[in-house]
Amino acid sequence: MEKKNNKAIVVFSGGQDSTTCLFWALQKFEEVETVSFHYNQRHAQEVEVAKGIADDLGVKHTELDMSLLSQLTPNALTRTDMEVTEGENGGLPSTFVPGRNLLFLSFATIMGYQIDAKHIITGVCETDFSGYPDCRDMFIKSLNVTLNLSMDAEFVIHTPLMWLDKAQTWELADQLGAFTYIRENTLTCYHGEKGDGCGICPACILRKKGLETYLEQQGEMTS
Ligand SMILES: [Zn+2]
Repeated sequence: MEKKNNKAIVVFSGGQDSTTCLFWALQKFEEVETVSFHYNQRHAQEVEVAKGIADDLGVKHTELDMSLLSQLTPNALTRTDMEVTEGENGGLPSTFVPGRNLLFLSFATIMGYQIDAKHIITGVCETDFSGYPDCRDMFIKSLNVTLNLSMDAEFVIHTPLMWLDKAQTWELADQLGAFTYIRENTLTCYHGEKGDGCGICPACILRKKGLETYLEQQGEMTS
């Protein structure tokens, strides 16, 4: 009999989505660790925020250096001299980092192999699809198969947010008893402001829209 493996790694950025995933994982798995990546991201304090949240929740946090990514791909997330713009006419937004989830999930899974954690959790989502091809369910399933073949292992990549919109992600946070914590302590803003953020960058606008929708639904339910 194979021994039950109930250890998980959350790919963790300290943002709303991955923090919701962390709370989700803490309810589902006996042992949870987090991993964050340095890739010269625009908001360098992202990893500090991630570390703070991991400390708050008492989970181990590992930081891996992926700065080679910015060596290869000049874009608005890794270069401060580029403006954050939305994709137009079906084009990709300037924040797209090609291959980012491919690399992050591969390294998280290699880490899983080393620490004997079978479950890998990522906050990618196809519903609020910003045009990132590596957030699609098809990609995650394909990579899961490839990683298992590459290591002759049975990893399971979990995507609890895959089919949720932003309002439903807030709802999940609430169900997990983490609504206020996530609202106040996570970093989503492209300008590096925690909580409700700067309010004007694309990430803040998306987050705010979801939050307002969720709060409106709540209001309708209680009135
Ligand atoms: Zn912002």
